[in-house]
Amino acid sequence: MKIVLNEQELIHKALESKEFDEKNYGIVLRVLTKHYFLFGMDKQQVKDTLAVHIRERVKKYIHKDWISRIEYAIKNVQKYGVELVNIDKVDITETELQRIKDINDNDIEKIAFVYLVYAKILNKIKSNNDNWVGIKIKDILKDALITKGYKSIREQQTVLRILNDMGLLRSSKKVDNTSERVCFIDYTSDISFSINDFRDYVLTYLRWKGENIGNCETCSKLIQVKSNRKLYCLECWHHREKELKKQWKREHDKNKKVEV
Ligand SMILES: [Zn+2]
Repeated sequence: MKIVLNEQELIHKALESKEFDEKNYGIVLRVLTKHYFLFGMDKQQVKDTLAVHIRERVKKYIHKDWISRIEYAIKNVQKYGVELVNIDKVDITETELQRIKDINDNDIEKIAFVYLVYAKILNKIKSNNDNWVGIKIKDILKDALITKGYKSIREQQTVLRILNDMGLLRSSKKVDNTSERVCFIDYTSDISFSINDFRDYVLTYLRWKGENIGNCETCSKLIQVKSNRKLYCLECWHHREKELKKQWKREHDKNKKVEV
């Protein structure tokens, strides 16, 4: 998911951490700027506080670079508002699901579903969003859990054209723009299910279609159930394997000692 759904949580993390997430600096600066404005600081105070925050956490701190990034964040927050984003769920309706199912191509269905979820989230964040999604197709594919195919721009454009031809999406006419408008949003028909956990959320669609989808026994993340072995997501499974190996080694070492 390319959008931060709970900005308060991110503010907490950023303030508690002794490090600064440089890779996502734009997002971190945005939420901290909101936080300090909400705290009652003025522009200059926000700027100074952020500069101190970064200097304390970044190894090679170059003041003039960071100040221009901070100023950019402040400008944007002033333009778009200080209200914190907090999306706890997205409702999906029966009509929307039916429209997606009618595509009749598993991968493209998943892509359409991801577009739908993004549009609904962005509509909640910006009241005048009007069903637009400005997310790169490579990030859409990632959320759709599609790892094979669609690597070339031509293939990606083909998928978008199919969805445009079916009337499900409408591409922005602007050149060099990755915006798509989702045209099958429906807030009136019955809600089929709500998404409240956004880890691998595309699986909620496959579960609706009847695929065998379960929850990881450790972290409850959605997973595709392929056998009857115990249910773990990949991360939890790796973690468990490591622990079991450690445990086995301990037992083995203990037995060795007894033998001596
Ligand atoms: Zn797990």
